[in-house]
Amino acid sequence: MTRVLVLNSGSSSVKYRLFDGSATLAKGLVEKIGEPGGDTADHREALQKIMSATDLAGLAAVGHRVVHGGSDFTEPTVVDDDVVARIESLIPLAPLHNPAAVTGLEVARHLLPDVPQVAVFDTAFHATIPPEGVTWAIDAELAAKWQIRRYGFHGTSHAYVARRTAEILGKPVEDTNVITLHLGNGASATAVQGGRSVATSMGLSPLDGLVMGTRSGSIDPTVIFHLHRVAGMPLDEIEDSLTRHGGVLGLCGDNDMRAVEERRAAGDQAATLAFAVYLRRLRETVGAYLAVLGRVDAITFTAGVGEHSPEVRAESLAGLEPLGIAVDPARNEAGATIISPDGSRTAVCVVSTEEELEIADQARAALGLA
Ligand code: ADP
Repeated sequence: MTRVLVLNSGSSSVKYRLFDGSATLAKGLVEKIGEPGGDTADHREALQKIMSATDLAGLAAVGHRVVHGGSDFTEPTVVDDDVVARIESLIPLAPLHNPAAVTGLEVARHLLPDVPQVAVFDTAFHATIPPEGVTWAIDAELAAKWQIRRYGFHGTSHAYVARRTAEILGKPVEDTNVITLHLGNGASATAVQGGRSVATSMGLSPLDGLVMGTRSGSIDPTVIFHLHRVAGMPLDEIEDSLTRHGGVLGLCGDNDMRAVEERRAAGDQAATLAFAVYLRRLRETVGAYLAVLGRVDAITFTAGVGEHSPEVRAESLAGLEPLGIAVDPARNEAGATIISPDGSRTAVCVVSTEEELEIADQARAALGLA
C-alpha cells in the first residue's frame, strides 16, 4: 500500500494528485471555492468532490503542502492535534498562505480519520542554511521576539531538482553543488551544496528575492515607508500592490512571460524594460550564489519559465564563459536536459520540477513506508 494523496490547499482552490508509487493515478483542481461563479461552497465540499472523483481504496497517507513551517518544522511531520495547532500559530508569519493549509488539514483529517496525514513544508529544505544566510542585520532582540529571519520557500522543488541534477550528472548528491532556479509565477533561487540548501532568495515571506510574475522581489524597505508616509497608502494596500501588482506585471501590465517576450520581440518598451529588470535580478542572484558556493557543478532551470523559455535561460547566463558557464544555442532551443556545451566546467540543466511527487515521497518516508 503505497498510495498517497497529495493536497495543495490554497485560499480558493485545492490541487490534488493521487500517486501509486511514482505513478499518477488521478489529478485535478477544484477552483473558485466559496467564490461567486464557483459551485463549491467550502474546503470540505472541495475535498468531498476529490474523494468521490478518485478511488481512495488502500490509501496509505495524505501529504499536505504547507507553505510556512517557521523555525519549528524542519522535516515532514506526521499530523496530530498539536501539529495543527502549531501550524495555526504560524499564521501571523504567513497570513496569505497558512490559513488554507490549516483548513485543508482539518477537513482531510475529519473526512479520512483512519489515514495518516503528513505536513510537508516549503520552508523545511532551507533549515540547513547557516545563521549568516538567514539573519538580517536588524535589532537582534526584535528579530528574536517576532521570529524575523529568512525562511525560504519552494523547498520541495529545490530539493527535488538538486537531486535530479546530481543524477543527470552521474555524481553523488553529497558531492554536487547546484544553483537551482525555480522560475514560475513565483520565483526563487537556491544555492545547494552537497544536497543541502545554503542560501536562498525568498525571505520571511515569498515576496523577497527575484522579480516574479506579480511580486516585486527585493526592494529597499524605504519604499514601503515612503508609500505609507508620503503617498498615504495603508499598509494592506502597499502589501497588495507589491504582491499582486508588482513584478513584470507591475512594469508592463502582463505577468505571463510568454506575453512579455512577444511584446519585447515586437519592440514594446515597457515589456523590454520588464524583461531586462527580471533578467538583471536573476543574473545578480546567480552571481551571488557562485560566490557563496565557489565550485558550481550545475545551474538548473525549472518551473514554467525555467522549463519553457530559451530566452530567459540564454540571456540570464550570457557572457559568463570566462567563469566556465555557457549555453549551447541548439540544445537550449531544443529544450535538452543539458544545454551547456560538452566539457563545460559548470553544466547548465533544464529539469521538470515534481513538487507533488516529492511531497508524496516525503510523506511516505515520514511514515516509514518508503
Ligand atoms: P506556478 O508558479 O503557478 O506553479 P508555473 O511554474 O507553471 O506556475 O509557471 C507559470 C509561468 O510559466 C507563467 O508565468 C508562464 O508565463 C510561464 N511560461 C509557461 N510557458 C512558457 C513559455 N513557453 N515561455 C515563457 N514562459 C512560459
